[in-house]
Amino acid sequence: MKRKSGVSRRDFLKSSALAGAAVASGGGALTAGVVQASEASERHRTRGDLVLVNGNIHTMDARNPVVSSVGIRDGRFVEVGRGAKGVQGARVINLKGATVVPGLIESHTHFVSLANRPGYHVAQWELARDVKEALAILAARRDRGDVPPGQFITAMGAGTPNIWFERRQPTLAELDAAVPDRPLFLYFGGGGPARVNSLGMAFFATVSNPTVTVQPDGVILGGNPSQANAALYHLRIRQTFEDKKRSALDAMAYTAQVGVTTNLDQVLVAIATGTLQPETLDPQPNHALFNLNHYRMYDAYLALHAEGKAFTRLQMNFLHNQSFIEGLGQDIKQQLPELRERLKNQFQFFGDDMVRTGGIGEWAAPFSLPNNSNNPRGYEVWLEAQRLCAKARWRNENSQGGGYPQGSSGVPADTATIEQVVTTYEMMDQEMRDAGFPDGIKSLRWGLQHADHATLAQLERLKALNCGVSASGFRWTSAARADGQPVGPMFPRLVASGIPLALHQDGVHITAHNPWFAMHYATTGRNNIVSPANPQGQQINPGQQISRQQALHMYTVGAAWYCNREDDLGSIEEGKLADLVVLDKDYFRVSDAEMRNISSALTVVDGKVVHDIGAFN
Ligand SMILES: [Zn+2]
Repeated sequence: MKRKSGVSRRDFLKSSALAGAAVASGGGALTAGVVQASEASERHRTRGDLVLVNGNIHTMDARNPVVSSVGIRDGRFVEVGRGAKGVQGARVINLKGATVVPGLIESHTHFVSLANRPGYHVAQWELARDVKEALAILAARRDRGDVPPGQFITAMGAGTPNIWFERRQPTLAELDAAVPDRPLFLYFGGGGPARVNSLGMAFFATVSNPTVTVQPDGVILGGNPSQANAALYHLRIRQTFEDKKRSALDAMAYTAQVGVTTNLDQVLVAIATGTLQPETLDPQPNHALFNLNHYRMYDAYLALHAEGKAFTRLQMNFLHNQSFIEGLGQDIKQQLPELRERLKNQFQFFGDDMVRTGGIGEWAAPFSLPNNSNNPRGYEVWLEAQRLCAKARWRNENSQGGGYPQGSSGVPADTATIEQVVTTYEMMDQEMRDAGFPDGIKSLRWGLQHADHATLAQLERLKALNCGVSASGFRWTSAARADGQPVGPMFPRLVASGIPLALHQDGVHITAHNPWFAMHYATTGRNNIVSPANPQGQQINPGQQISRQQALHMYTVGAAWYCNREDDLGSIEEGKLADLVVLDKDYFRVSDAEMRNISSALTVVDGKVVHDIGAFN
């Protein structure tokens, strides 16, 4: 059954987007976004010159912080705060006082995985606060009317169901009520389990090699062997190349909808057999959502880019997941075959303004402490990987949050894993200076991802090596610690260190992509476990809040540095690439609760309107 309403979604948004906080806080705004993002992706994207006036434009340029107008020509800002009278013949958009920020930069995401999702994928389900809203978003996807009979509507990853306050999956009855006439496939988190509606159950009853067991209540179990992954396999092998291109466009539309205009992709957990034969990495029944063929996963996105259809920016890091592989022999020089080939045969920071390569990240080899009995030579291989990156003069990253044992009240955080990274970066800096590079590794801008419990001394040592940090913004799904200590990150310490600093969600498997969740967490310390005693969520990061300006700085100027793009991105300045987001609410003035519901009313990338809910027509 299709739902009809007397008011079109476009009219609803026109009337509510800028004025009606009460309306926008309901489920309507969420489901409307599903419709409008897609329409924007299908409409022509406005080419040519653009002038925005009557805005509350936060440039994030310290010399020229808030202006009311910008002029854009040939994809760059040419006038900022001077009335834009020099941009003749441009399309003029009256922003009616709306708040504008630079296009946001997500410095740690697995966005290409989102771009490869099988089925008619609904990334928007992560915007739901609860199961009811998630169901409404799935129903809205069906209501768009473009999913052919028999084709799956899918929703995967995003840290579900723990991002919803009930922390449960929808039931079979709820799914059948939301989408009765198309098969539905939901896959939770990065590893399952999965769930289907009745039509989904009927489909999986017909498959073989392997068969898929669906429980009577619609659950498809994870575990080992994982039935959820077997089910995912059957959807993946049925994807055509055109299907993948459609999913990539949907992923771009979603990121534009939430205001992220540049994504630094951190790849996936690659299958680490040591093989250099791509065909062996094609979908297998035991692959989880966070496994894909890392040779082939870019093909559809790159094809769209070649056709001029990619409309948000992508920078691609390269993760290498090979630790010690017995079959390659005992000589360390035989280990890390894929990383060695990468460094010999690929260029970093190569491409154009829309799509380009990054460096090695989020890791060059799996992290291992010395004396790890499970992986006796793991540390040796990890150290060799750091050295290979340094010698090749590549950008290199590690991901470590630093441990903080339960019950350690009053005891300093256990930052041994971060200490190993910092000490090794110092060692590589010395080795490179000894090898005749006077700046060591400093011009390479190595990075540390997460860094939740890094000490001030560690941060200062990293800063001295010209390294940067991108901090975990996604801890808002965590429970409070039993000992009352902050979950982390220790945001004020990170800011005080003065190190180049970004903020990330680490979507789209273990957590959501939406950046406003991260900024809400950095500024409030609250998780999403809501109760009468904690209507705003529990305080899980006491004493570790930063200002909204600081959090936004991390998602703009700080993240631009992290991508080596601070000359082109991260702030609204004359000469920079014209990426901006007109918000549907004033980030600086809305309540903490409303901050989580911010989305884009109008997104501009490269001087073109790529998302538009119609609020300014
Ligand atoms: Zn990650």
